[in-house]
Amino acid sequence: MSIKSNYKYLLSDLTALKGVGVKTTNLLKKKNINNLLDLLWKLPKSFTDRSLSSKIIDLKIGENQTITVIPQKYQFPRIRNLPNRVICSDETGQLDCVFFNSYEGYIKKILPLGKEITISGKISYFKNKYQLTNPKYISEDSSLIKKVHNKYSLTEGISEKVYNKIINQIIKKLPELKEWHSDEIMKKFGNLSWNDSIIKLHKPENIGKYKDNFYQRLAYDEIFSTFLVNSEIRKKIKKIKKKGKKININLQNSLINKLSFTLTNDQFKSLNQINKDLNSSTKMFRLLQGDVGSGKTIIALLSAYNTINSGYQVAFMAPTEILARQHYNLAKKIFPKNKIVELISGKSDYKNKKKILDKLENNQIDIIFGTHAIFQKKVNYKKLGLIIIDEQHKFGVNQRKKLSDKGGNDCDVLLMTATPIPRTLTMTIYGDMDLSIIKEKPKSRKPIKTYSKLESKISDIIKFIKKEINSGNQIFWVCPLIEESKKIDHTSAVKKFKFLKELFPNQVLLLHGKTDMSEKERILNDFQKNKFKILVSTTIIEVGIDFPNANIIIIENANKFGLSQLHQLRGRVGRGHKESSCILMFKSNLSENAKKRINILKQSNDGFLISEEDMKLRGFGDILGFKQSGIKNFKLADPIHNSDLFLLAENEMKRIENSNEDISKFKPLIKLYDRADIINDIA
Ligand code: ADP
Ligand code: MG
Repeated sequence: MSIKSNYKYLLSDLTALKGVGVKTTNLLKKKNINNLLDLLWKLPKSFTDRSLSSKIIDLKIGENQTITVIPQKYQFPRIRNLPNRVICSDETGQLDCVFFNSYEGYIKKILPLGKEITISGKISYFKNKYQLTNPKYISEDSSLIKKVHNKYSLTEGISEKVYNKIINQIIKKLPELKEWHSDEIMKKFGNLSWNDSIIKLHKPENIGKYKDNFYQRLAYDEIFSTFLVNSEIRKKIKKIKKKGKKININLQNSLINKLSFTLTNDQFKSLNQINKDLNSSTKMFRLLQGDVGSGKTIIALLSAYNTINSGYQVAFMAPTEILARQHYNLAKKIFPKNKIVELISGKSDYKNKKKILDKLENNQIDIIFGTHAIFQKKVNYKKLGLIIIDEQHKFGVNQRKKLSDKGGNDCDVLLMTATPIPRTLTMTIYGDMDLSIIKEKPKSRKPIKTYSKLESKISDIIKFIKKEINSGNQIFWVCPLIEESKKIDHTSAVKKFKFLKELFPNQVLLLHGKTDMSEKERILNDFQKNKFKILVSTTIIEVGIDFPNANIIIIENANKFGLSQLHQLRGRVGRGHKESSCILMFKSNLSENAKKRINILKQSNDGFLISEEDMKLRGFGDILGFKQSGIKNFKLADPIHNSDLFLLAENEMKRIENSNEDISKFKPLIKLYDRADIINDIA
C-alpha cells in the first residue's frame, strides 16, 4: 500500500467502523465528527477508574473510587431532609452510603444486607466516617468490572462504553505511516512515532501529561503542519513577478515634512521596509503590526502616496464605514490637491456609485476608501498597485489570498493590525506574510491612567468629568450591548445618553450601530470640532477611531469585555499630548480572578504584554474574537505553553526552506491535522 492510501484510511467516513449503527454515526455527525480522524482528535477529558480500591482504610477522600463492601444496617430516618443511610463495612473499617431522594425499596435492592457488593462514587469524610453519597451500584461480582474507562465529552446518546469501543477499534487499525521528521527532530521526542503517540494520547493514565514526549510530538506536528502550509503560500506569492514601483523619495519627504509631528524610528523603519517591497520585482504581502495608537495610518498613507506617485491606484479598506471615512478625510487633508481621493459609502446613491466605479475603471481615481464594498465583483480597477487592509483580524489566510489575487500580479498587499498577540501566534496566523512591527509609541504620549469604579459610585465619576469638561477635555462613554447575540440592542447606551443629557445639557451625543450613516457623520464631525463634550456609544468606536482631543474613556460593565478588547477601547484616548484616563465601571465587587486581570490592565499600557498575560489566564482561544475569526484553533498546541515547540518548528521550517528539501513527505501530516484546506494544491 502506498503512503497515500495509508493515511487516507483515517479519512474514511464513519461507515468504515465495524459494529456501529446508523443511529450512532448520525449522532456523531451532528457533532461534526465525520471521519475516523475526527474521532481520534476528540481527546479524552478524564477517566473513571473502576479498578478496585484496596480497602476502606485506604480510600482517598475526594476521589471517585470503587470498593467492595458488605452492607450491615439500614438507617431510614422519618424526618424530612435527613438522608437515608446504609452502614457498610469491610474488615478494615466502616463506610456510610448516603442517599438523597432514593426510595427505600431501591436502596434495599442494590445494597442487600450481608452480601458483598461493589459500588463506586466520590468518597467524602464526614463526622469521622468515610461516606459515599448516592453510590453507583456496580456489581455483585467484582471480577466483572471493567477497570478503566476514558471519559470523552460525550455526544448525547452515545455511552462511554460504546465510545471507548470505537476509539479502540480505530487505534488497533492505525495504518503504518512513513516517518516524516528528520532523525534530529525525532530524537527530541524520544523517537516516538505518530501512531505510538496517538495511542498514548488515548490512554487514560496519560490524560493531562502535556509535557510527555507523545503529547509534545503531536503538538509539534500540529504546529509544523501549520507552518508548512504558511510556507507554501509564501513561496507561491514570492514566485509572482511584478513590475517594481519607482519610489519618489522627494515627494514622500515633502509630505512627511508637512506633518505636525516627526515620525518615530519604528515608523521610519516600517516605511522603508514597505518601500523596498513596493520597489522590488516580487509581490509584497506584508503585515504592519503595532499597538493601538502607534501611528500605523500615516505609514499606510505614505505607502499609498508613493504607490500613486509611481502611477498606480490604491484601494484602502477599513472594517467600518466610520473608519473608512476617517482615513478618507485624513488623506484629503494631507495629500496634495492633484491627487484624486474618493470614498465609496453605503450612503452614496446609485448614480454616485456608478460614477465612482466608472472613474475607477478609467484610472481617474488615485485612491479609494471604503469597507469590503470596494472589492465587490462589479468594482474594476484600471491599474491597482496596492491594497491596504486596516484592522481586519477576522481575515483568514484564504480571504487575504483572494484579495491579493483580485488585485492582479502588479498589486502589492499591506495588512494592518492593532491586535497585539504573542510572536508564536503571529507566526501561526500571519506566517504567510512578511512582518513590520511598530513597537515604539510617539514620544509625546503620556501613559493612560486606569481606574476601576463600582457603578454605585457614579456620582464620583460625574464630578470628575465635570472638572475635565471645564478644562476643555472630551469624553467617550462606552456602553456594552446588552445581549451579545442581538447586536442591535442599544438600550443601555440610549438610557445613559438620556441620563447624561439631563446633567450636561447640549453637551452629549449618542452613537450606535443603528444610527444612520449621514447622522453618524454629523455626530462624529460635531464631536471632532469639540462642539459637544461627551460621546455616548456602543462598542462601535472600538477600532481605529482617532480623536486626539478626547482624553477620558469610561467603559461600563467592563467585566463584559476581554482584556485585549478593553485595551483597544482604552486606546481611543491617550492619542494627543494630554494626560488621559480610563475608568472601568463594574456592577459589583470583582472576583479574585477578575481583579488579577484588571490589574494587568492597570499596570501596563503595552498591548503585547497584556494579551500574553490574558492568554496565560484564559487560554488563547478566548482572546479578541479568535473564536469567531474562522482561524482554526489548535487541537493540542498552545501558543503560550508550547512556545519552545513553535520556535523549534520555525527553525526546522527555515532549514527545510533553505535546503530545498522535498516536502512531499509531509503531505500526510498536513492532512492529519486538517490544516490543508487553506491551500488545495501542496506539492
Ligand atoms: P493606530 O496605529 O492605532 O492606527 P493612528 O494611526 O490612528 O494609530 O495614530 C494615532 C494618532 O497618533 C493619530 O492622531 C496620529 O495623527 C498620531 N500620530 C501618528 N504618528 C505620530 C508621531 N510619530 N508622533 C505623534 N503623533 C503621531
Ligand atoms: Mg488604526
